[in-house]
Amino acid sequence: MTVRVRFPPSPTGEPHVGNLRTALFNWLFARHHGGTFILRIEDTDRDRVVPGAMEAIMDALLWLGLHWDEGPDPQDPTHDIGPYGPYVQSRRLPIYQRYAQELVEAGHAYYCYCPPERLEQVRKEMVRQKLPPRYDRHCRYLTDDQRRELEEKGLPRVVRFKTPLAGETSFYDLIRGTITVKNETLDDFILLKSDGYPVYHLASVVDDHLMSITHVLRGEEWIPSTPRHILLYQAFRWQPPHFAHLPMILGPDKAKLSKRHGDMSVRELKGKGYLPQALFNFLGLLGWSLDDHTEIISQETFIRHFDLDRISPSPAIFNIEKLNWMNGVYIRSLSQDELASLLEPFFSRRLGSVNVDLLKQAVPLIQERIKTLEEAVAMAAFVFLPGTMEYSVQELLGKAFAQRPQEARTALEAACSRLEGLEVWDAQTLEESMRTLAQRLGLRTGDFFMLLRVAITGRTVSPPLFQSMQLVGKERTLLRLRDAVRRLC
Ligand code: GLU
Repeated sequence: MTVRVRFPPSPTGEPHVGNLRTALFNWLFARHHGGTFILRIEDTDRDRVVPGAMEAIMDALLWLGLHWDEGPDPQDPTHDIGPYGPYVQSRRLPIYQRYAQELVEAGHAYYCYCPPERLEQVRKEMVRQKLPPRYDRHCRYLTDDQRRELEEKGLPRVVRFKTPLAGETSFYDLIRGTITVKNETLDDFILLKSDGYPVYHLASVVDDHLMSITHVLRGEEWIPSTPRHILLYQAFRWQPPHFAHLPMILGPDKAKLSKRHGDMSVRELKGKGYLPQALFNFLGLLGWSLDDHTEIISQETFIRHFDLDRISPSPAIFNIEKLNWMNGVYIRSLSQDELASLLEPFFSRRLGSVNVDLLKQAVPLIQERIKTLEEAVAMAAFVFLPGTMEYSVQELLGKAFAQRPQEARTALEAACSRLEGLEVWDAQTLEESMRTLAQRLGLRTGDFFMLLRVAITGRTVSPPLFQSMQLVGKERTLLRLRDAVRRLC
């Protein structure tokens, strides 16, 4: 059997971490088994479709390197790649209508003419009786005459599934084992709406069958839908695919993942400067593990080892600190040129175009210190800014000089005259010179260097001071030190 899996997002907004994890697991499963990874767009819930969301999903997949073998053509999404298209459900309406009709004819489904007001009344009544609110199956029991009469009136109608009233429905989940529900807990769910659009259950089952999907890997939140799907497969006399429901993703406090935990859309993650390689690695471990300790895993290793037997049924914990750490690891593994070219757009977005040579020289200073590309901008802006820096006198003086600004001023003046006289402007010379000066002034080097650091970089935390000064160059260093002196007058 050749594995065929699908990632079928609904284009209802920006894709988030959870969507991408599902996509990644399907992709890895396909690649591991030499199978086919299919992108299908489930856009039949027209009220929820957001313009541009389909493109955002495709961009996110491509950015992460999850290329699909079949699905909308990334170059032109109005076209399809693959023999089972269209892969956008709104382009397949006649197919669903035909199958819904087939179920009606076979006695597995029926037309329901109940107007919204009646449904609402039924719902209220159920709630009043403390019953789960659901359709009372009124139209299931219409006589042929009644049905004809309603048809003649030309009333809008939906197609509902004739769920068995008794018995049980079971399926085997490859991660969780057998799951069984009593049919009496299921309702006569809608298959086709009055506007001719299918509901998710029908569209999903029909497409999974017609697209020869072998394995359905999707989030745990879809478990309640699966018995309905099984009933549909039975009604159609089709062989269902294998099912595996992936563990949900929670925050470290075990609550539903949200912004507060650092959940972000893929666009936001990209904008903050997370590397796709790092996100790939991080997402790959949200529910799957190689062993009990390995964290940094290459794409090849993932593909070689990824299978369902190491997916845990218990929730995966999204820990943004871990993602940050991992991103730092991947940033450090880049060559300096690679990092410089990734950083360039981040710097130019904030500072206008930057000198690429200078950026390349700054890379060694920041590579070890950043966890996201975005962080580099605040950390190294001082290298590119032409004039003086922004900071408060309080920051400049810090604790050490808070009570003795005069002394700070004298020290900065002394630094200026020392540095003016320097012929050689490299980190080593600068360091030697400033250390000697600190000694001569009777200052603790740490205190003195902090003064220089704030004046030159505008921050109390910066890349190594003397390498920074070397990069900033003599002219701007002196300009910034003199400016600091002026602020203390
Ligand atoms: N369209 C559903 C979603 O938004 C697909 C669920 C499934 O995989 O069956 O995720």
